[in-house]
Amino acid sequence: MKILMIMPDAHMHKLRIGSFTRSFREAPLTLTTLAALAPSDQFHFKLIDESIDKVPLDYPADLVAISVITGTACRAYEYAKYFRRRSIPVVLGGVHVTILPGEAAQYADTIVIGMAEKTWPQLLKDFSLNKMKKVYRDDRLPDDFTLKGVPSPRIDLQRRSGYMIPDTVQATRGCKHQCDFCTVPSVWPGFYKRPVSDVISHIQSLPGKYIAFNDVSLVDDREYAKELFTAMIPLKKRWGGLATTMVSRDLELLELMKKSGCIYLLLGMESANQKTLCSISKGFNKENEYREVVKTLHEYGISLQGCFVFGFDEDDSSIFETTVQRVLDLKIDIPRYSIYTPIQARVCSNDCQKKIVFLLSIGKTTTLCMWCSNRPRCHLKNYTEASSGHMKKLFNSLILLNEQFFNRRPLRSSIFSAISAIEFS
Ligand code: SF4
Repeated sequence: MKILMIMPDAHMHKLRIGSFTRSFREAPLTLTTLAALAPSDQFHFKLIDESIDKVPLDYPADLVAISVITGTACRAYEYAKYFRRRSIPVVLGGVHVTILPGEAAQYADTIVIGMAEKTWPQLLKDFSLNKMKKVYRDDRLPDDFTLKGVPSPRIDLQRRSGYMIPDTVQATRGCKHQCDFCTVPSVWPGFYKRPVSDVISHIQSLPGKYIAFNDVSLVDDREYAKELFTAMIPLKKRWGGLATTMVSRDLELLELMKKSGCIYLLLGMESANQKTLCSISKGFNKENEYREVVKTLHEYGISLQGCFVFGFDEDDSSIFETTVQRVLDLKIDIPRYSIYTPIQARVCSNDCQKKIVFLLSIGKTTTLCMWCSNRPRCHLKNYTEASSGHMKKLFNSLILLNEQFFNRRPLRSSIFSAISAIEFS
């Protein structure tokens, strides 16, 4: 049976400098892990990450499965409609489907809610028996789940070219924090660890020298992180991953990270406004300590991608200028800007549909997340223009921020060398 699995392009994580455009991220694990959960003798998988490959609209699939995040929901629904018109059943799953199952169900034959380790193999079995249900839901309690025995992803089905780092690993899932704006605590309540020996075997099986951890907070469990990094030292890999700013206070851990090959970290700095940080339950980020955070990481040879989010209630239009000045002043190696996407967003109201069309039409030009909500708290209360003006200003400002930053000549050459070093080594 032929299964076409699609991860639609969100036009995120793309670096554009003049005519140069490339995917600026590690290979995603979703599709390759789902493929690994199925018996390979019974199902033939074609995996399409649309950020690097075109969706083959004429593919003779028996079933189409689409992984959906909020930023790709509209696009995913268009593909679902298209394949269903071709009488091919469509399954939708992923973070957005888990948050808004009622909405996703309108566009699919079947939806998958929650984690897929158990439900996806069952769905495929039912499909092969012509008994596929409308909904598959993983109702396990957080402490009823372990990452033990989760198979390594089918990287044989994934293209190696096109990514900044094609070898991606997951060691943990979930996060111990509860930041107000973040989908992680709602979608993956709890914090799960893969046995260190499984992670090490997985890393050893990867051909590249560079690996990327996709864990949202790799160092949340300090003892686990220490065990993992110690075991990684003999592997002599170089790696990057995500952490919180608090990692800079733990010099023992940083030393181990350095020895195990850590070369970059992505940190959710989120805002240059401490009031905002407190209002989104991320008060453990101290804006006045950001200078020390960057300095410490640099001293350990770790470069920094700093993520900032715009659109919070505490901010006004001055936040753009303040942020870009702060980024330059702190010497953050690569800033990443996005727009607050409320987790209970609905995409079906008329007002919101208009915004989405607008956002999709300009979102192709830069590294933006899509913002879509009609929740009152998300109407950018301290921005002074009328509603559509808010959106336009927000996006134009982000485009400008990216251009200002990435067009600086020394930075351009350092980014090009960093990418080349990783890709061709
Ligand atoms: S620390 Fe990061 S992953 Fe965890 S809840 Fe906060 S924003 Fe989400």
